[in-house]
Amino acid sequence: VTFGGGQLNRAAELRGDKQEMRRLEADPRTRILALWRGKPLVRQGESAELVWLERTHALLAHASGPRVFLGLEADSDAALFAFDVSDWEPEGKVGPSPGFLDVTRQHFPDFADDIRFVELRSVMAEMTPLEAELAATGRSLAQWHRGHRFCPNCSSETEPVMAGWERTCAVCGRRHFPRTDPVVIMLVTHGNSVLLGRSHGWPEGMYSLLAGFVEPGETIEAAVRREVFEEVGVRVGRVGYLASQPWPFPASLMIGCRGEALGRRLIVDDGEIDDALWLSREEALDAISGHRDGLFLARRGSIAQFLLYNWLADRLD
Ligand SMILES: [Zn+2]
Repeated sequence: VTFGGGQLNRAAELRGDKQEMRRLEADPRTRILALWRGKPLVRQGESAELVWLERTHALLAHASGPRVFLGLEADSDAALFAFDVSDWEPEGKVGPSPGFLDVTRQHFPDFADDIRFVELRSVMAEMTPLEAELAATGRSLAQWHRGHRFCPNCSSETEPVMAGWERTCAVCGRRHFPRTDPVVIMLVTHGNSVLLGRSHGWPEGMYSLLAGFVEPGETIEAAVRREVFEEVGVRVGRVGYLASQPWPFPASLMIGCRGEALGRRLIVDDGEIDDALWLSREEALDAISGHRDGLFLARRGSIAQFLLYNWLADRLD
């Protein structure tokens, strides 16, 4: 599964060692991933590769905020960092990003034309597992720092520590950690059929698995049953865990589950979702191979597609 882990050596034991961090930052072998407003710098050819910069590169003069230590490269032990260069102003007007529909690609003048800042969701499935993990980690942390400058306890400005993996408040002493928000995403079946839904605002004809945030005080299983009942009025019996996916948009962990529906009658809550339907295995296969007009299933790189494909291939058990 995309973002499913690339065995990055995070070398977390080094994060608290300020002297070593200073040494690594100055080391000429160190390589830096630049992120601009959540978009990594990518070279787009047949596949997508992250572009790693030397510390002295002109683009990094625009870096602001903490330098996040991502880890050590496996074969060379070179340090990998993520820098946030969101203060750089590209030429031309930049509007608010429309999220996964963002097709704009920003170009820093020094680079070849195929090197640009790109929306991660548009290239995630073309990356190696290690680079996908690095991009997801860098993006999550950069966005966390941008949105969590002030202490939620006393409103004072906090300081990044632990090589970018923590913030502390000098006024009240609280420590703050990067957040990860659990989301359940469920492959709900009834006999030979799977339950799919679509959110408001999705591209026309696109359907995916139902999903929702786990609430405080709730188990994963309870969240699966509650979300399905709230969205489509279907009761779910047995629930099991299948796989997970970090989803750094901005800070989710998708927890992929399967659930057995106790009935098929759908009562769609149109405040929650736009539509829902049951598809048989054969119909789902047709949709995936493009033989059902106007019906598209979950995007490439999403855990929803991964779970659906494995269900269709009978590989879930
Ligand atoms: Zn505080």
